[in-house]
Amino acid sequence: MFEISFIPAFKDNYIWLLHRDRRAFVVDPGDAAPVLARLEADGLGLEGILITHHHADHQGGVAALTERYPVPVFAPAAESITGCTHPLFGGESIEVLGCPVQVMAVPGHTAGHIAYLAGDRLFCGDTLFGAGCGRLFEGTPAQMVASLDAIAALPLATQVYCAHEYTDVNLRFALAVEPDNRAIQARLAKVAELRGAGLPSVPSTLAEEKATNPFLRCRENDVMAAAVRHGATEVSPVAVFAAIRAWRNVF
Ligand SMILES: [Zn+2]
Repeated sequence: MFEISFIPAFKDNYIWLLHRDRRAFVVDPGDAAPVLARLEADGLGLEGILITHHHADHQGGVAALTERYPVPVFAPAAESITGCTHPLFGGESIEVLGCPVQVMAVPGHTAGHIAYLAGDRLFCGDTLFGAGCGRLFEGTPAQMVASLDAIAALPLATQVYCAHEYTDVNLRFALAVEPDNRAIQARLAKVAELRGAGLPSVPSTLAEEKATNPFLRCRENDVMAAAVRHGATEVSPVAVFAAIRAWRNVF
């Protein structure tokens, strides 16, 4: 299996660098310059690019990277992606640095958003975040709930490599939703320690997310009650998710 490290980009993006034997892939290179610098510094040759969705901070570096390295670009078929060579819908299996990678359709943040599962490592773009989830720019609450349910069905040890460092603010919101949740309180302290030391809070495990992420906890009594206090008129998972997501947008 390949190793994984990160390349920071913009204010709070993580570009994931997958590497093995001096060969590399990158996930969601929104900016080419830090990727090119890192490949050079580490003596790595780029062999492919994985894109989760069309937002500029995820694909903005593709043109400059493929100019220097004419490599395959795997990306959602349903979205407009610069230089896409391998359009994907979800359900496919692709090979990355000799490892099988499953493609999952996870619409909600955008209409064609996909995620990549390599063994127990999940690259989920802006679908699931540390203690949070992406905004619904294009999809519906029902689509996002189905996408999060598909992720929640993966093994608890799955490592969640999301694309932004949002965990701290997300946990503050999670605590507003569930003030008595000790797992959230403990994770908030742990993340404060990591961030204070200049370390990323990502990846997390799916087990941590299920214990602390309100968007994966829409069937929990306390989350349902909070949703009702914030406008949900019923406690179906979709209605609870929609109310919690709308509250998060103004938190
Ligand atoms: Zn996005």
